[in-house]
Amino acid sequence: MELKLYNTLTRQKEEFKSIDKNRVRMYSCGPTVYYFAHIGNLRAYLFMDNLRRVLKYNGYEVLHAMNITDVGHLESDADEGEDKMLKAARRENKDPYEIAKFYTERFLTDLEKLNIDMPEIICKATDHIKEMEEYVQKIIENGYAYETKDTIYFDTSKLDKYGILSNINVDEQKAGARVEFDTEKKNVTDFALWIKAPENHIMKWDTFWGKCYPGWHIECSAMSRKYLGELFDIHTGGIDHIPIHHENEIAQSKGYSGHIPANWWMHCEFLLIDGGKMSKSLNNVYTLSDLEEKGFTALDYRMFNFTSHYRNKLNFTWKSLEAAKIALSRLKEAYRKHASGQEKVDSQVIEEYKRKFNEAINDDLNMPLAMGIVWEVAKNQTKSKQFAELLLKFDEVLGLKIDSEEKIELPSEIKQLVEERKNARANKDWKKSDELRDILSEKGYIVKDTKDGMEINLK
Ligand code: AMP
Ligand code: ZN
Repeated sequence: MELKLYNTLTRQKEEFKSIDKNRVRMYSCGPTVYYFAHIGNLRAYLFMDNLRRVLKYNGYEVLHAMNITDVGHLESDADEGEDKMLKAARRENKDPYEIAKFYTERFLTDLEKLNIDMPEIICKATDHIKEMEEYVQKIIENGYAYETKDTIYFDTSKLDKYGILSNINVDEQKAGARVEFDTEKKNVTDFALWIKAPENHIMKWDTFWGKCYPGWHIECSAMSRKYLGELFDIHTGGIDHIPIHHENEIAQSKGYSGHIPANWWMHCEFLLIDGGKMSKSLNNVYTLSDLEEKGFTALDYRMFNFTSHYRNKLNFTWKSLEAAKIALSRLKEAYRKHASGQEKVDSQVIEEYKRKFNEAINDDLNMPLAMGIVWEVAKNQTKSKQFAELLLKFDEVLGLKIDSEEKIELPSEIKQLVEERKNARANKDWKKSDELRDILSEKGYIVKDTKDGMEINLK
C-alpha cells in the first residue's frame, strides 16, 4: 500500500520511496543533555518512534541514527549565549561530562518507559570531534567558510539559496537584524562551524585551529554522514529546528558534498500546556516523573499523544491525560475480552479493518484516524480471538503493550476521593459517601462496597 509522508522541503505530502530497496536510512535530532527531558521534548521522540514503527509495519528495514548533543548547543540556536552544558555544569557544580552522562541515562530511561523503539545508532557529539573537524575542513576547502578572530563561519552567501526549508527571505532578515555580536561576520545568516575556545573554556579539543569546540549544527552533518551516508531518506526533528538548525545542516551538506543530505524532512509540532507555552515561570514544565508522581504511566502519556496528528499542536491538560489513562485501560480490557472470546469472524471483516488501519497510518501517520479503527475493533460486540490478534497486530504501531497485565494505578485525585469516601463510611456519613460515589462515577470509576471494603473498577 502506498505510504504518503509530508515533506517540509516540498511542503506537501508525497509518496514515500526509499533510496535502497526495502531499507530506510533515517536521522533524528536528539536531545541536548543538560537537563531532564520535558513532556514536550518527549512528544518529538514519540513522533520519531511512530514513524519508525509505521515504516517497519510497511515492511521496511530501518537504519536509524539519533544524536546526543553534549557540547556546542548555545542558549540560543543561533550562536548566542553560553553553551547549555557549561551552564548546567555551573548550576550543579559538576563536570560537564558528568552532567551529560546523568541526563543521557535519564533520557534513555524515559524512552524505554515510553516503549520507544530505539534507533539502531545513538551517537554522542563529543565522540565525533574528529569527524566534525574533517567535515569543517572540507567545507573550507570547497570555499564555503571563512575564519575570523574567534570563529570559523559558514558563508551562506556562497549558496545558490540559503533557507529553502523555511523559505526565509534573507533580505528581510538583514533588515531586521540586531547589531551583530561578531562584527567580523559577513552575512546575518552565517553561522559558527567551529569556535576558538577562550582560555577558561572547559570543553575544548586540540584541532587544526588550536583549542576549539564545535558549533551545534556540525555534529548532525558529520554523524549522519558517518552512519547513514551522504544521502539518506528521512531527517526528523521538532518544528523549532526548521528555521535555523536544519537550514544550517542543509547548508553544511551543500558546502561539503553539493547536495541536500536527506530526501524527506519531517517535523513534529509543539506540545502546549493548558493552551499555552511551557515555561519555568508558569511552573508547568512537566517531566515524565511529574506524571508518574500523579499516578500516570508513561504509556498513558503515549496514548494521549495519539489524540492529535503530529503536525498539529497538542494541548496537554491533566484532564486529557486522565481521559487517555481511562481509554488505555478500556482498550486493554477490550483486548482481554476478545482474547477469551469464542466467536468466529469472517476473514473479510478482518481484512477490511486491516486495510482501513493501513490507510490511516500510511496517510502521513494519521494516528487519530487509526485509533478510530482500533476502537471499532475493540468495541465489536462479537468477542473473537481473531479480533484480539488483530489488535495485537495494530499494537506493533501503537506500542501500547495492550496485552500486558493490567494493574489499575489510580491517579492521586481519585485516590484522594476514595480515601474521603472511606472516612465518610467510617463516620457513617452515608450521604457524603453516596455523593463521593457519584463523583467517582462521573470520573469514570465504579465503586462497589464488599464485605472486604471498597472495590474500584473502571466503568
Ligand atoms: P532540545 O533538547 O532542547 O534540543 O530539544 C529536544 C527536542 O524537543 C527537539 O526536537 C525540539 O524540537 C523538541 N521540543 C522542544 N520543546 C517542545 C515542545 N513544547 N513540544 C514538542 N517538541 C518540543
Ligand atoms: Zn540536528
